[in-house]
Amino acid sequence: MNEAIKMKDITVLVVDDEQSIRDGSERILSRMGFEVFKAANGEEGLKILEDHNIAIILLDLKMPGMDGMEVLRLVKQKDSHVLVIVITGFATLETAIEAMKRGAYDFIPKPFEPDQLRIVVNRARETIRLTLETEMLELERQRTLNDLGMEKSRIRTIIESLPNGLVVTNVKGHVVLMNPAFQQMFGVPPGSIQTDPISSYITDKELCRLVIDISRGKYIDFEDIPTYEFPLGTEKFLLASGQPVLGERKECIGAVVTVMDITEMKVLDQLKSEFVAKVSHELRSPLSTIHEQIAEVLKDTVEEEPGKDQYILSRAKEKTKGLISLIGDLLDLSRIESDSAKMEFKPIRLEELIKSIVDFLEIRAKNRNQRLSLILPEEKLPELMTDPMALESIFGNLISNAINYTQEGGEIAVSVEKVMGSVRVNVTDNGFGIEAKHLEKIFEKFYRVKNEKTRYITGTGLGLPIVKGLIGSLGGSITVDSTPGMGSAFTVILPINS
Ligand code: ADP
Repeated sequence: MNEAIKMKDITVLVVDDEQSIRDGSERILSRMGFEVFKAANGEEGLKILEDHNIAIILLDLKMPGMDGMEVLRLVKQKDSHVLVIVITGFATLETAIEAMKRGAYDFIPKPFEPDQLRIVVNRARETIRLTLETEMLELERQRTLNDLGMEKSRIRTIIESLPNGLVVTNVKGHVVLMNPAFQQMFGVPPGSIQTDPISSYITDKELCRLVIDISRGKYIDFEDIPTYEFPLGTEKFLLASGQPVLGERKECIGAVVTVMDITEMKVLDQLKSEFVAKVSHELRSPLSTIHEQIAEVLKDTVEEEPGKDQYILSRAKEKTKGLISLIGDLLDLSRIESDSAKMEFKPIRLEELIKSIVDFLEIRAKNRNQRLSLILPEEKLPELMTDPMALESIFGNLISNAINYTQEGGEIAVSVEKVMGSVRVNVTDNGFGIEAKHLEKIFEKFYRVKNEKTRYITGTGLGLPIVKGLIGSLGGSITVDSTPGMGSAFTVILPINS
């Protein structure tokens, strides 16, 4: 069907040599809402067909001049979609059948009643309507398919050109898609992907575990999903992070995992750590000397000329002390970060070690009128195979912080207890507390909470990162719970057979 034809402007051409038929048909068809053209012979009819969008032709087969069959042939040749209803006057039924064979749509015998004409033409109109509708649906379907195809190929192009590795798995942890970057990273030959378990493509067990856990919907809260950093061979460092793919009912139907090459970042980080370690190392001795010399001068001048100079000197001494402690922290941290902090594991009685730290720090607490108490388990703990220096640093830092960030007259409690295969040490205070927005960040390097209460407390912001790093090396964990104005509780869990 000619696409331009719309239902509202269906036109009918009546080709008949009898004027009465032409005019009668025109009357009936106009009332039915059609636009009607009339032709007295074949040639005239074909001419009108040339110039107008004709949908239905009422065609007399028996006409002087060009015969109806010939007109039918030419009409069909020009536009096979035009519906031709032949008017079979004196012709026989066979002629009508012959015309149908040659492509006529229907026939109407002459003379016909108005109703007969209405029925036949209405049927033709219905056919046109259905054809148009089918065509439109087909067009729509084609358009949708094209759009989908476009969208699909666009997404595929994007995925394929991503510089990061990308793998998509189903709920069983089987691979359904992998981009070339991922294939290259893990040496998967191109074109060889089937829906095999992720472990068929990746040898790193931890990464497989993570992908499977995400695929099976282990993580309801996206924020809990850990990232995973791992070496690939001897030269590369990769970082994997994933998210579950959710279905319509928010059920987990698989995972999308991206893998980023972070080798360069690692190298830079390493360079930075080395630089910090070097500078700190170089600064430590001269600073210590200056510190000692100031102390000497202060001692010598204390009786002779107390006053302004002495005040300046004590301030300088305080500052150098602060710098020395910062350098000490930096060195500790770079040792932990470069894994060169060699742990020396020995059997340790944790209760005794913590008691000695508490005893040592008690004087500082007393100076601030604070009560520092220690609660030990009734039953002796088994000896821990652990590094005493690391523990000294961990609990020294936590208890010092509790003293520093608690008002005068406050209370600090340290408790040690055994919990299923681990030891739990709580360092609790009823001091300033920490706002929720700072809680995660206090374990980051150089992060210090600055407010009215903490402003005058000196520190480096390196204590807690050191604590966290050391606890990690001992296979333990640290958490913090705090309410501003009420106090804080740091909880350390250490494995018993570390
Ligand atoms: P520093 O004490 O040198 O500032 P830390 O890394 O030990 O560095 O601590 C980081 C920040 O965490 C501190 O600046 C302080 O604001 C906060 N903080 C640590 N421990 C406590 C605590 N017990 N009570 C309140 N705030 C604390």
